[in-house]
Amino acid sequence: MVQRRTLVGVFVLILLLIPLGRLAAAEPYEELRRSLLREIIENVRTTSRYLKKSSLDEEVMVAMSKVPRHLFVPEAYRRQAYENRPLPIGQGQTISQPYIVAIMTDLLNLDPSDLVLEVGTGSGYQAAVLAELVNRVYSMEIIEKLQSSAAERLKQLGYTNVETRLGDGYYGWEEHAPFDAIIVTAAAGQIPPPLIRQLKPGGRMVIPVGSTFMTQYLLLVEKRRDGSLSTRQVLPVRFVPLTGIH
Ligand code: SAM
Repeated sequence: MVQRRTLVGVFVLILLLIPLGRLAAAEPYEELRRSLLREIIENVRTTSRYLKKSSLDEEVMVAMSKVPRHLFVPEAYRRQAYENRPLPIGQGQTISQPYIVAIMTDLLNLDPSDLVLEVGTGSGYQAAVLAELVNRVYSMEIIEKLQSSAAERLKQLGYTNVETRLGDGYYGWEEHAPFDAIIVTAAAGQIPPPLIRQLKPGGRMVIPVGSTFMTQYLLLVEKRRDGSLSTRQVLPVRFVPLTGIH
């Protein structure tokens, strides 16, 4: 009897401690994250002419509010994690600006059942935002160190619906194709033909195109039901290059 009472006591204590522990961990960043979201809302308003809308889908903003960006940047940059700008993640690469992550996600117009391919895992942040919106995300990274640390981070944070792979994303991920949506987070000289092939009819791709030294444009590519493409230049952007030999 005493044993049972002790067990009940321990159980109640755990229940009480979990929310307290969560609050303590979240508090220093929660307000910063809220203020970042307000900044994104404002940025979207001021760029509505390019985006052809003055606010992003609510689901996208909710996803952005859930992902702890401070856990995707190196410790030395944690305090800057909720500034609306890209940050270094090592290996000469960056985690993208949150506003750009938000608009690229929004442009994909995702449905929960969509199968999504990301090229350029980097820190895993964009993959986590996508994973808040769809059941399955496949993400490819060409730098081994980034791929392994992103995979570990995503696992630790409970993103079991993201699978990462080391490889050149220019060629896509044939085994899981076709995809409803493809997002490329490094600038390509042209839209990689293998990615076009791996996009489902009715599917959408968001990709920055252009060289390092020239203006790059974020493109929204849609594959029509008959297999033809429509392409819209959304806005000028600046991304690290898509590397590899093609
Ligand atoms: N999405 C990332 C995030 O949320 O942290 C940021 C991506 S960073 C701007 C671009 C990433 O693309 C880098 O990590 C880079 O190594 C990767 N990359 C460049 N070329 C690639 C390729 N051919 N295939 C796969 N990944 C590539």
